[in-house]
Amino acid sequence: MTEVALTDPTEAAQQMEKLQLQLQQWAKEYYENDSPTVEDAEYDKVYKRLQELEAAFPELVNPDSITQQVGGHKTKSELPKVEHDVPMLSLGDVFSMDELTNWMVNTQKSFTEELIYNAELKIDGLAISLVYQEGLLVQASTRGDGNVGEDVTSNIKYVDDIPKKLSEPLSIEVRGEIYMPKEAFVSLNESRERDGLPTFANPRNAAAGSLRQLDPLITKKRKLSAFMYQVVDAPRSLNIKTQSELLIRLSQLGLPANNTNAVVTSTTDVENYIVSQTNHRDSLSYGIDGIVIKVNNLSFHEELGNTVKVPKWAIAYKFPPEEAETIIQGIEWTV
Ligand code: NAD
Repeated sequence: MTEVALTDPTEAAQQMEKLQLQLQQWAKEYYENDSPTVEDAEYDKVYKRLQELEAAFPELVNPDSITQQVGGHKTKSELPKVEHDVPMLSLGDVFSMDELTNWMVNTQKSFTEELIYNAELKIDGLAISLVYQEGLLVQASTRGDGNVGEDVTSNIKYVDDIPKKLSEPLSIEVRGEIYMPKEAFVSLNESRERDGLPTFANPRNAAAGSLRQLDPLITKKRKLSAFMYQVVDAPRSLNIKTQSELLIRLSQLGLPANNTNAVVTSTTDVENYIVSQTNHRDSLSYGIDGIVIKVNNLSFHEELGNTVKVPKWAIAYKFPPEEAETIIQGIEWTV
């Protein structure tokens, strides 16, 4: 394995550029074409390597770096575009209990009272924003680059879980995840194989490819589902104080909310939740790629704020990837 010299800025700059180009290509294949050519674990390793180099050489960080952008690309599809009033962000991620504990310890430092967290499943789909006016669904859009997404209002009406009308005449923006249930994914790929069409790599890409269609009738055939987990400015728009309360309120409004969440305080609680959800993972009818830990008190979200890419009040614990060796244009390492 070639040793990567972290002391030489010229070599670091060259490597950072190579990694950047590689990640941009993978991001385009994944987000734009819904057709990844590498496993997520491989993408994550290369991404982490770029982050390490950027941390070691902050003066070399390109403001357009993929680490500074949601989705890592500008949306180029033919669907109409929608500007998000409040950016749709990604999530920071950790891959071990140690990293997760560090995140919890650091987050706690901003507060004197002991933090309570809401632990949720990380649904393996694509993010969606739904705008309701006086209780009626008027717009649906994808996350895109976080600031500008794609208008999928015509498509979303074919996602049965999404109510066209809330149980109360509220004007709110709800966010969550569109996913393809495992069974629908298997039968979609079987039928594509029979028709000699390329199959989808995973349910996440199948969901994205099925929603981001110019012809909504294609979306209709794909049997997508949804879980919602956020309301923009919930303390004011819904008079809600905590994330756990919000999930209950979403269900009361007729929106699909996942009820496998748990309110947790200690790292032991979090670890127990992770272990128990990991054990149930295969029995779920939908895919999950990790656990999301969120500070439960919504007023603390405002205090903690966001980076350009991720909220500081939440973190994704990603399920451990398979051990793999990665080779990118002459650079080789294992993480
Ligand atoms: P992400 O998917 O790791 O996490 C952020 C997203 O999680 C949010 O935007 C939201 O849509 C979703 N989410 C699901 N459940 C949630 C919940 N309960 N609460 C809040 N959010 C929830 O981040 P990303 O920026 O969408 O994608 C990055 C990941 O995509 C990478 O880590 C990599 O694994 C994968 N990727 C793979 C390739 C590839 O070529 N294989 C390319 C690009 C990206």
